[in-house]
Amino acid sequence: NQAAAENVFARHDQVDMDAVERELILMGELDEAIGAGQIEVHYQPKLDIAADRIASCEALVRWRHPTRGMVRPDLFIPLAEQADRIGPLTLFVLDRVVNDLQSWRASGLELTAAVNVSAKLVASASFAAKVRDVIESGRVRPEWLILEVTESAALAEPERAAAVLGEWRAMGVSVSMDDYGTGQSTLSYLRQLPLSELKIDRSFVQHAHQNRADALMVRSTVDLAHELGIKVVAEGIEEEACLNFLREVGCDMAQGYHIGRPMPATDFVQRLTNTSLA
Ligand code: C2E
Ligand code: CA
Ligand code: CA
Ligand code: CA
Repeated sequence: NQAAAENVFARHDQVDMDAVERELILMGELDEAIGAGQIEVHYQPKLDIAADRIASCEALVRWRHPTRGMVRPDLFIPLAEQADRIGPLTLFVLDRVVNDLQSWRASGLELTAAVNVSAKLVASASFAAKVRDVIESGRVRPEWLILEVTESAALAEPERAAAVLGEWRAMGVSVSMDDYGTGQSTLSYLRQLPLSELKIDRSFVQHAHQNRADALMVRSTVDLAHELGIKVVAEGIEEEACLNFLREVGCDMAQGYHIGRPMPATDFVQRLTNTSLA
């Protein structure tokens, strides 16, 4: 009957409104979050497999919300992108990474660090200018810095993307293709981009030591990337057997909970200055 149907719709609307409202509130709060010191940068170690040493890390942003607790980046990064707040957020992360790299290097830690750059920012002229400013400021050596982009950034405007990535490489910054394998494009297509590194998505890596198809994908990606002079990072290493497989196929770097979880800078440094690796 009609009353019941209306009721169902009313309740349905209510649910959607709650979700929309929550997003709008979060979006507003995100504006204040940086100034309020609620945004933190955590680091996840990247293991140089052959050297058996932590040589790099990935900066992963965290929002310590005063009432909601830790808000996951998969939740607020897309919001920040929609609300055009991803620029300031990424510049905040970049600035923090530059400061941390300086202090790590000053204490003799030979590390590089990766920053995630959204597709939207790859297309942004003002972000490109900011990256140039940071490099030209001399606060950081460009070789210490890796910028991670996803395929969607490269595919939306291929020529623009190739030009921007080429500019970064010309400055001496490394460029990494993130989440490799999840999109449509092949490595022979991506070869047109000036990449220094390829990160194989964890969905292919996680079971590569026990699944023939995944093993084949990882092995052939490593071989082809190496032929093109591109280093390979495998993400999502959760067990030793997986790391052993990667060593066997000649993968350059490994990242995942088995190596180390994302952690605050102080914990990361402490972990590196202790003798044990894992
Ligand atoms: P991503 O760039 O692919 O980062 C890797 C994600 O995998 C991280 O999630 C990391 O904590 C998680 N991870 C690492 N090792 C393992 C593992 O062994 N097993 C499993 N199950 N997961 C693992 P996180 O930190 O929640 O970040 C999620 C996504 O949010 C990132 O995916 C990235 O796309 C985005 N993101 C994070 N920080 C930033 C940032 O500063 N800027 C931008 N634009 N995006 C960011
Ligand atoms: Ca990444
Ligand atoms: Ca990734
Ligand atoms: Ca991802």
